[in-house]
Amino acid sequence: MDWGNLSFGYTKTNYNVRCQYKDNAWGSVEMTDSEYINLHMASTVLHYGQEIFEGMKAFMGKDGRIRLFRWEENAKRFRHSASGLLMPEVPDELFREAIFKVVLANKEFVPPYGSHASLYIRPLMIGTGPELGVKPALEYLFLVFVSPVGPYFKEGFKPVNMMICRKYDRAAPHGTGTYKTGGNYAAGLRAVEEAHKAGYANVIFLDAKEKKYIDECGPANFFAIKDNTYITPESPSILDSITNKSLINLAGKLGLKIERRKVPVEELSTFEEAGACGTAAVISPIHKIADPETGKEYIIGDGNAGSVSSNLYHYLTSIQVGDEPDPFGWVTIVE
Ligand SMILES: *Cc1c(COP(=O)(O)O)cnc(C)c1O
Repeated sequence: MDWGNLSFGYTKTNYNVRCQYKDNAWGSVEMTDSEYINLHMASTVLHYGQEIFEGMKAFMGKDGRIRLFRWEENAKRFRHSASGLLMPEVPDELFREAIFKVVLANKEFVPPYGSHASLYIRPLMIGTGPELGVKPALEYLFLVFVSPVGPYFKEGFKPVNMMICRKYDRAAPHGTGTYKTGGNYAAGLRAVEEAHKAGYANVIFLDAKEKKYIDECGPANFFAIKDNTYITPESPSILDSITNKSLINLAGKLGLKIERRKVPVEELSTFEEAGACGTAAVISPIHKIADPETGKEYIIGDGNAGSVSSNLYHYLTSIQVGDEPDPFGWVTIVE
């Protein structure tokens, strides 16, 4: 493995684990080396989008031990997503068994300490039972695979430019925004594509109802810093990011005030720092935000990552690999 040149993409590993739900009960966790799924053509996932997923990472510490970051939060959100799409919940103990099994079976793919790479863990669940009418399936497949991934930004911790998209919405206020489901990504594809074509790293979605407030930053939450305060949107249509929650805790520990509230677009001109946060990149600092439909452009900072964002980034990533003490009990050793 060329650990230093890994990108954020799929790399084949040795095994994945699977568990089937049938006759109102979960079966046992099975390991397989097949990358394929044998699926009925009338499965609800293929027609009505009964699909949910998670994303988390395992890190190799200096001590040679593998660390998971806040897996219980992913298990909890997976249950939340399942209930939202009328799918059976995966009990936390089953979730734990599956992720531990798949990580241990693919130990050799956990990138070494210091490589800035990690083992990405992708749990997903799909409706496999055949239906033609619109209704939840009676059978489901819970699957977890892993892939070693490189740092999200090869160039390092450098600010990116974002584009506000007013034409398309990712999720509606009473829609599926709080569930981690593929449908939200399908709804956002055109917006992301337009942002990429225009030369931006990603898209900023506004609230679907009033188009006044910042909702999400592509596949990540938005946060900003001003007057020693960490500000992040409150909205009924965003996915509650575990990275964001963790940054809020760390910001509090660093003496910042926290505000979780609506963030009007015009407020962008007042921020000292801004960023997108999620498991993949932890933090992507944001320099410029263009709003092509209004012709406005917001410049944040001088083009380098701000000091608060940098401190938060280094604090969180150091806890994840075990270089810093873990005051919140976020890290679990996999053994
Ligand atoms: C997964 C995801 C995030 C980030 O959540 P983390 O728990 O921090 O990885 C943010 N927004 C959307 C839409 C997501 O799907």
